[in-house]
Order: sequence, then structure tokens, then C-alpha cells
Amino acid sequence: MEKIIIIKYGELTTKKDNINYFIRILNDNVKKALSLFNVSIVYDKGRMFIESNDGNFDQIVSKLTKVFGIHEIMVGYKLNNRNIDIIGNNVVDLLKNISFDTFKVITKRSDKTYELDSMEVSRKIGGYILKNIKDVKVDVHQPEQEIYIEIRKNDVYIYFEKIKGIGGYPVGTLGKGLLMLSGGIDSPVAGYLAMKRGIKIETLYFESPPHTSLNAKNKVLELANILSRYGGSIKVHVINFTNIQEEIYKNIPHEYLITIMRRMMYRISTKIAHRINAHVLINGESVGQVASQTLTSMEVINEVTTIPVIRPVACFDKLEIIDVAKKIDTYETSILPYEDCCTIFVPDHPVINPQLEKCVEYEKLIDYESLINEAVKNHEVIKIGEGNKYQDLL
Ligand code: ATP
Ligand code: MG
Repeated sequence: MEKIIIIKYGELTTKKDNINYFIRILNDNVKKALSLFNVSIVYDKGRMFIESNDGNFDQIVSKLTKVFGIHEIMVGYKLNNRNIDIIGNNVVDLLKNISFDTFKVITKRSDKTYELDSMEVSRKIGGYILKNIKDVKVDVHQPEQEIYIEIRKNDVYIYFEKIKGIGGYPVGTLGKGLLMLSGGIDSPVAGYLAMKRGIKIETLYFESPPHTSLNAKNKVLELANILSRYGGSIKVHVINFTNIQEEIYKNIPHEYLITIMRRMMYRISTKIAHRINAHVLINGESVGQVASQTLTSMEVINEVTTIPVIRPVACFDKLEIIDVAKKIDTYETSILPYEDCCTIFVPDHPVINPQLEKCVEYEKLIDYESLINEAVKNHEVIKIGEGNKYQDLL
């Protein structure tokens, strides 16, 4: 018997026309996620089978629980013999290491020509277990131990446990988006949720040295590193925002600082998105959270771009966002106390219902186009998650 991991795709199979495309990308993503392990991967329409020569099954499963598109993971055994007595003996052998009082055998036949039907296989194997293992009973309603048998064309799979996968679509199947990534709690969660829907992300970070520190930047790189565990390597585009922010601060009425600053961020993000062939912007805005996230503010800020903006946490409460951040391991990094470029130029009374005409009028006070072009021209790109110091090895 060989130990084997079986992966089920779930939601993918509803996309009938694209199924081969989805499976190919999932297969690539699984290969990348397991690149540090010695494995062989075989796939067919419904499943993927992973064999490992180095026995790191727990680590492999831990990696697979972070790959979007996987709905179920089973660690089991492959038997190259379909004789029912041999199956029974092997099941009993495997169960000797597990303690349980009640059980149920669940059989599936993908090969319908097998001489016994599913019910008969379950009954026979159940009989073997009752005869060979002391003090156990069948309970079909609430068994302590489920025993799965799959009869396939040339072999049989035996497994005892199903591990829930992370779900969603394989990252990359829906194209690319640009995530506006700050050091806060919301934007990494937004990036995770976008990846879950199959969007490959690159990220954009606005820094304002010397008003923001290297620590603040490293925090963002670490957040990108954590996100890369789910979506593979991630590029971080770093834009120096200092000149633009200082110009805004010097020339524009302070109640409009944030509105105009965010309009500038959107303009720059749109330019970078076009350059990298991203179809959407993604950010961590949440309705009502701060003055710049009222509906009227969002309308006035969004006006500078025609690219769609996805706001995955728009309707989440802060506590709901925090729950996801904890689950995906970004929370502890997000709450490190390094200042962000938005927090240092915050006015006492930001406008809650900004007017578009005023924005347009105030923006004439600065030569923002050349400042934006300069910032875009000089921007830095850092790749996270492939062979550099941010690579996540486990
Ligand atoms: P918090 O979790 O504290 O709310 P935040 O990052 O969400 O932090 P906001 O001021 O609410 O901060 O900003 C809204 C969104 O704008 C962010 O989620 C992020 O997508 C984007 N953003 C803000 N600041 C930056 C920045 N310095 N670089 C890139 N994107 C930013
Ligand atoms: Mg926020």
C-alpha cells in the first residue's frame, strides 16, 4: 500500500466550459505550493492525487490547506489490488492504529463494472472489521470513525478522514488585480478575499519618507509575504508619495487633505494597473469606517478612475474583518505600531461630504500631473516569495 493525498476541487466543477483551464491553473498552483517537497502529482477531471517520496504528509497537507480551489483533502492509502478479501485485510490492518467504538463504511465505485456494488462492498468490509477488531459496533447515523473505500479502475483508495480545504477559485483563473496594500488591518484581508475569488494580485504601497519609516515599509512587505502563502509570489510596487503629500498639505484647505490625497492614490493606482495589465483595483475600504469612506466621499474619490474598484470588506464590521485577519495570520503584523502615510497628515476635521467641484478647483492649486508622473516613473518593485529573504519556507 502506498500513502497518498487526494484533493477534491468542488466549486470548480460547476464551471463546465472552463474546467480544463481551471484544473490546469490549480495544478500549477499546487506544484508551486509544493515545490520544496519531493512529490508526484496526477490529476483527472474530479481529483488530484499526490504521492510523496519523503513522507512529509503533515507539512504537505498544511500547504494544501492554503491553496484556493481545493475543497477537500484526504490522506489515504492506495491499494493495487481490488480483491475484496485483500481490501478487508488492509482496512483492518490500518484500523489497528486507531481507537474507536463505532464506525460506518462508505463506499464509492468510480468503476461501475466492479463485481460488487457499493452497498455490498460496505457490508463485506464492515463484516471484516466486526470479526477482527474487538468491541466495535456499526453506527450509520453518528459513527465515531468513518471508513471510506473508493473502487477505481485499477486500484482502491482507503481513507479515514476528510480535511476541509480553503475553497474558492484557483488564484489566476480570473486574471489580475492591483491591491492597494497599507499596513492596516483591512487591506490584507481585502487581498486575501480577492485571491479567494481567483484573482492574482500585485500590490501597491504608498510610502512617505521621512514621515514614514523603514519599519512601516517592512511591515507592508511582511504582510505581502503572508499573503503570498495563499497566492504564490507577489510583487509590491512602492510609490514614493512624499512630494505629492507635502504639496497637498501646503496648498490645499486641510478639510480636503484626505479626499484629495486619496484621489491622487487612485490616479496613481490606475496608472500602475494599466501598466501591469490588471483589470481591477482592490482596496480595504469599509463603508462608514472613516470620513473618506462615506458614500459621498467614495463617490468623489472614485470619480478619478474608470477602472472597476473591488472593495471586498466594504460591508464587513471591523470585528468581522479582524476575525478574518486573525484566521489568515495578518493581524499580529497589522497591529504593529508603525505610522502610515495616511495617518501623519490627518486633519482635525476632514470633510464628510466632499464636493466634486471643490476637489477640482483645489487640485488646480498643485501641478499634480507632473508629480504623479515622476512618482510612477521612479517607483520601486519588490518581488516577495521567490528566493528572496521574504520567502516563506513552510
Ligand atoms: P485600517 O485597517 O487601520 O483601517 P487601512 O489600511 O484600511 O487601515 P484606511 O485609511 O482605512 O486604512 O485606507 C483605506 C484603504 O486605502 C486601505 O485599506 C488600502 O487599501 C488603501 N490605502 C490606505 N493607505 C495606503 C497606503 N499607504 N498604501 C497603499 N494603500 C493604502
Ligand atoms: Mg480601513
